[in-house]
Amino acid sequence: MLGNTNEIAKKLSKEFASHYFKEKYEYKGNDLGSVLSDEGTVFKVWSPIATTICLNLYKDGEPDTKPFAVYEMTPGEQGVWSYQSEERLENIYYTYSVTALGETRETGDIYARACGVNGYRSMVIDLNKTNPKGWEKDSFTYDNNKQPIIYELHIKDFSHDEKSGIPQAHRGKYLAFTHPHSYYNHDETKPTCLAYLKALGITHVHILPMYDFGSIDETVAMNDDFNWGYDPVNYNVPEGSYATDAHQGAIRINEMKQMIKALHDAGIGVIMDVVYNHTYSTDSYFQRTVPYYYYRLDKDGKFANGSGCGNETASERMMFRKYMIDSIMYWAQEYHLDGFRFDLMGLHDTETMNQIRASLNTLPQGENILLYGEPWSAEPPAMDPGFIPANKENLNSLDTQIAIFSDDTRDAIKGSVFLEKKGGYINGEPLQADKIRSAIGAWCDSEEIDNYLPRQIISYISAHDNFTFYDKLVLSMKDIESYEKACPELLQVNKLGAAIIFTCMGGSFMQAGEEFARTKQGIGDSYNSPASINQLNWEWAYNNEDLIDFYKGLIELRKNTPALMKKEGLPKESIQLISQESEHIVSFIIHDQEQMKLFIAYNPEEEERVLDLPEGKWQIRCDGHRFMKENGESMTRKVTIPKKAALILVAE
Ligand code: CA
Repeated sequence: MLGNTNEIAKKLSKEFASHYFKEKYEYKGNDLGSVLSDEGTVFKVWSPIATTICLNLYKDGEPDTKPFAVYEMTPGEQGVWSYQSEERLENIYYTYSVTALGETRETGDIYARACGVNGYRSMVIDLNKTNPKGWEKDSFTYDNNKQPIIYELHIKDFSHDEKSGIPQAHRGKYLAFTHPHSYYNHDETKPTCLAYLKALGITHVHILPMYDFGSIDETVAMNDDFNWGYDPVNYNVPEGSYATDAHQGAIRINEMKQMIKALHDAGIGVIMDVVYNHTYSTDSYFQRTVPYYYYRLDKDGKFANGSGCGNETASERMMFRKYMIDSIMYWAQEYHLDGFRFDLMGLHDTETMNQIRASLNTLPQGENILLYGEPWSAEPPAMDPGFIPANKENLNSLDTQIAIFSDDTRDAIKGSVFLEKKGGYINGEPLQADKIRSAIGAWCDSEEIDNYLPRQIISYISAHDNFTFYDKLVLSMKDIESYEKACPELLQVNKLGAAIIFTCMGGSFMQAGEEFARTKQGIGDSYNSPASINQLNWEWAYNNEDLIDFYKGLIELRKNTPALMKKEGLPKESIQLISQESEHIVSFIIHDQEQMKLFIAYNPEEEERVLDLPEGKWQIRCDGHRFMKENGESMTRKVTIPKKAALILVAE
């Protein structure tokens, strides 16, 4: 390195942000990476500040072998270096040796579509050969006017349990999803994994990071090592530890496609969790290819850390914006994905997010592809001037087909995620009732942000971050922390919380296992806790089957209630709040043009209450404990709501 690192970084960063640099070096081609054709193989890499780049070819993807050939690449227009081979270098592994700022470093290709074990080496691949049988017919369609019901899961969590009913070789792997008939204890009334998801009735799964990440050693086939995977290495390649063989680059691609197809065959859409906001380390392939271009710096020239993970990427830079768009389009087209969830979206700029939306919209049925994200960051972004962070405050600058997680709904229901003992509406603070009244309409009456639609809001109580819903209830409601057996009193509070989420406007979202009081033994940040802590415990699940049935009832009710599934919002008269004697009780009528008119009430108190019913005849659909299979007697004028319960009645 020449001279003071931070000073050089600052100077370079200023140049990269300049109009001059953009004009001179913006590359708009769609051929970066390695491209195979009948004429041979072309490699292209963008690096305007490199002085030489060599292409290294390898027979395998292992880290220690020597290249069998090394070729100097040719610099061209816009800072793009290329090498053209007349050979079809299919299944050949490669790296680049980039010399920049007086140093030469070997790097994987940021545009790699395949790689060897642990992602050290990129690989030239014929993607057509990675398609599973029937892939050309694979499809999933979902009515874009309807809200999704999203189930957030992790590939290893899902089937790692030895009681998951999945053959050992596929537990914790992509292929676990390809077993459509799996059961707990061989009992056909107790489905697990894919069969369970189908029975639950959710519309989409949202899968925690499944691109190649760095924290798990892919050379160890089966073990208890676990990570959520928010540590990206190769953004356009599936993670190897979920494949049955991480050494052969084509296998992980084929097996991820098999997983997606199996979910589609079960009628379930697949959403991918994407983490473009930071990289596993700052010694990344981005940094090795174009030092300091892809990252934001602080005022001292050090890596800014808006992600809390040691760095933050620069979505506002033209070639990283292009990278994000190219990557999303690639996953959507090559892997048939149905949605993307952006980690720390508040670190990205609104223009990049809107361009991603616009690009997806150009695909056949591309408007149906869901986009949503976390509208916050760990620290404020160190964005180049003139760009707007895609956070909650700037929702009006985002395309209306990009949604955000509502931490307001989450915290109003069960209390702050940062203060473990603090409760919300259902667990100790019934005065949050006013916030719950806003949450019903997905906060669209909010004074802070005007005129947005329910489609822009994701309602939820729990996700992988922070305590599971059940653990939060233990911490906030019990004097003694115990996770031996689910406590009936807390299961009832869980039902009340779930009922609020599934009767709110906005998209519905739940953490896997929320519906069976999933516990992580009080561990809030389980990102690298053993698989035994993180896994879905199917024995625990079926011990709490009554709660599962309650969620099934809520999901079915929601799917059959047009007003709740409507993305575009309802006229004001379609949600009518009804006041009751206790200000803690929230009750309302909701309908869409008089279709499926519901009366819904929540009681967070420790006593049952008698409520006034609106005019007309009503039938109980949910008595607070369970859903009714058959119609009961007509009710008028008054109804009793149990303590800590939600009541749902349907108009006759
Ligand atoms: Ca990996």
